Amino acid sequence: MPEWSVIDNSFDKCLKCNACTVICPVSGVSLDFGGPKHLGPEYKRLTDNQITVNEPSIELCTLCGTCDRSCPEGVHVSLLTAYGKAVHAEKSGTTLRDLTLSRAELVGKLASAFAPVTNKVMKIKPARKLMEWTMHIPAERQFPEYKYNHFKKKYKKKEATTERKVAFFSGCYTTYNAPHVGEAFIKVMEYNGIEVALPEQKCCGVPMFANGQMKQGLKNASSNTNSLLLYVNEGYDIVTTCSSCASSLKKDYPAFLQTEEAVKVSKNIYGSEEYLRKLYEEGELNMSLASLDEKAGYFSPCHMKGQGVGTPAIDVLELIPDYKVEDMDAGCCGQCGTFGFKKEKYPLSMRIGNGMRQTIAESTKDYIVTECGMCKNQLNQLAVEKVKHPIEIIKKSYESVLEKDRL
Ligand code: SF4
Ligand code: SF4
Repeated sequence: MPEWSVIDNSFDKCLKCNACTVICPVSGVSLDFGGPKHLGPEYKRLTDNQITVNEPSIELCTLCGTCDRSCPEGVHVSLLTAYGKAVHAEKSGTTLRDLTLSRAELVGKLASAFAPVTNKVMKIKPARKLMEWTMHIPAERQFPEYKYNHFKKKYKKKEATTERKVAFFSGCYTTYNAPHVGEAFIKVMEYNGIEVALPEQKCCGVPMFANGQMKQGLKNASSNTNSLLLYVNEGYDIVTTCSSCASSLKKDYPAFLQTEEAVKVSKNIYGSEEYLRKLYEEGELNMSLASLDEKAGYFSPCHMKGQGVGTPAIDVLELIPDYKVEDMDAGCCGQCGTFGFKKEKYPLSMRIGNGMRQTIAESTKDYIVTECGMCKNQLNQLAVEKVKHPIEIIKKSYESVLEKDRL
């Protein structure tokens, strides 16, 4: 028996309508994948009753959460596929590669500590070939750069004293790969008179759930819930710049942990642009935004769409005078977190991302904006060089006002 359990009876509501299979990005490009209906509700029923059932194609589920959006009965499809992945990992074991990829925080800490060397080695062909041979990580797959001066080294504030205060969940990508995104968020909050604290936090658990490491994922979820609850109880809003972290804190934690604490924390989580939109709606957003004569395409990550909060990045960016932003409506990027770093899944990752590549190749935008660091990685892989986080644009607009004032 596994040392964890997932209590979710939503599988009983499945009508077998296949709406989830039609929308699933993996089912759309591969006949090898059983699809969300089978590997979600049906697989849960099967594995609960037949302990010998084991379906390896569950490994092809990226845990993008797209299936959840389509279900007319409110079945928690991706929660059930996460459960199925964990059952499969228990029965078949986990490779060293998948275990390594699931520990994004540990990898981030180590890679950042040796960043100048790590980043160079990751670009040397023989080293990448060796990595492909030993770890089955494709030599052609680009990795994001790691930063020696990562975000947690630079920002250590644990308390905020302003009336409205924010506790920032930075997530592994912003911490180790894109500290400038975290810094931009702190600045934007500063322009709005809001102090930001950085609570104790671990990896949100998404790479663990995606690799069947349910036990470790639940440990991280409990630890983060306990830490963030202290801040929620003190009146802080919890904000993150990462759409996958937001999705996990809002959706996965209450569903997996089934505790009042996780539910309370989940109700106080906001993505950075969702939070700015809230400030705007409440009449509290600093509207001193300078005009930016730029044209951007917005790429919505699957984990953003799955939160059901619309497109807050577009809503906020449209407040900038003269700024033009258009939803690219380009489907799934195919990187899907750790999925695209696996040799046997790399061709599928690129096939999924093909629709996005074509849409972006035909556009005339100055750059692409997206909230997800992994989507950015795939966009860079597909030769889209200029990819920014929306918070960078908002910071630039605020700063332009200050520069004009100084002149
Ligand atoms: S989580 Fe994504 S990949 Fe997995 S079954 Fe659902 S839609 Fe398909
Ligand atoms: S969309 Fe919902 S009801 Fe329809 S097959 Fe999928 S899980 Fe079942």
